[in-house]
Amino acid sequence: MTNMSLSGTPASGLKASPIRPTVDLDAPGLRHGFLKLPYSSDASAWGSVMTPICVAVNGEGPTALLTGGNHGDEYEGPIALYKLAASLDLEQVRGRVIIVPAMNYPALDAGRRTSPIDNGNLNRVFPGSPTGTVTEKIADYFCRHLLPRADIVLDIHSGGRTLEFLPFAACHALEDEEHGARCLAAMKAFGAPYSVIMTEMDAGGLYDTAVEELGKTFVTTELGGGGTARAATVRIAERGIVNLLRHAGILEGEPEPAASTLLTMPDEGYVVSEHHGLVEPCVDLGDPVAAGELVARVYDQRRTAGATIEYRSPIAGVLAARHFPGMVKAGDCLGVVAYPS
Ligand code: CA
Repeated sequence: MTNMSLSGTPASGLKASPIRPTVDLDAPGLRHGFLKLPYSSDASAWGSVMTPICVAVNGEGPTALLTGGNHGDEYEGPIALYKLAASLDLEQVRGRVIIVPAMNYPALDAGRRTSPIDNGNLNRVFPGSPTGTVTEKIADYFCRHLLPRADIVLDIHSGGRTLEFLPFAACHALEDEEHGARCLAAMKAFGAPYSVIMTEMDAGGLYDTAVEELGKTFVTTELGGGGTARAATVRIAERGIVNLLRHAGILEGEPEPAASTLLTMPDEGYVVSEHHGLVEPCVDLGDPVAAGELVARVYDQRRTAGATIEYRSPIAGVLAARHFPGMVKAGDCLGVVAYPS
């Protein structure tokens, strides 16, 4: 247990969170409720942000915290988790499952990556603040109230409206060997078609970092993108969740074995556009690419006689991510090449 009580009294001198769960998070039973955050606006003077939460507690066992909608335009996580919450059989749970299908609920509600209330990118504001913006208050509540309860944490991402990924589960290269091995085993149990051990370029503010700093077993994903879900990627999310709950011993049975290709995504694999324009993809997701092979062409859409810019892969591998949709601006990620490890 960390240096705080679960009743919400911080030991650090931070103010108490203004967020209150409308249901008991600890008592046995299956409950559907909300994380209620008072938020006064033009639309509702004494209103609240109501983030849906489902909690299933049944006997002794570990706690899994399952989240989607950290970014509001990534849909596999929310779809799979709303379905799980609606279908979970309490009798089959050993321990506890906490489901928050839409961590940044205002963003999901608006179909946006960030919150329409404060433009907050939830996955950049951790550990948050109880006196900050709405988005910072949500992050703070996760850090001080939900994460301390959890043993294993799954945060389901996809590419959102501006990226599309090969479907992969991921964990981070961690300094602590035992912790790293736990996360790796959980990632493998998830059983996505691809698996990635990531080194973050900028880990500050990520939920991932907040989870790992507490020593929790953590798995994240990138399952698709383009601002929508696909039947195949939803199935990957649903199967992965069940596999992970089996791996944790919360659901009975063994994870369904799945072939997964382990990829490394090095910094050098990022192809970043330095031009505005119309993109011609020259390879598709999953296609092998040689070092120096053409990945995309960018055309100046303002004239027929403009220069055509070619973007080539800096390394050999497979195309693991691509820009979405069809136009880019300078600084946009055109693609990411990863290599099988
Ligand atoms: Ca994301």
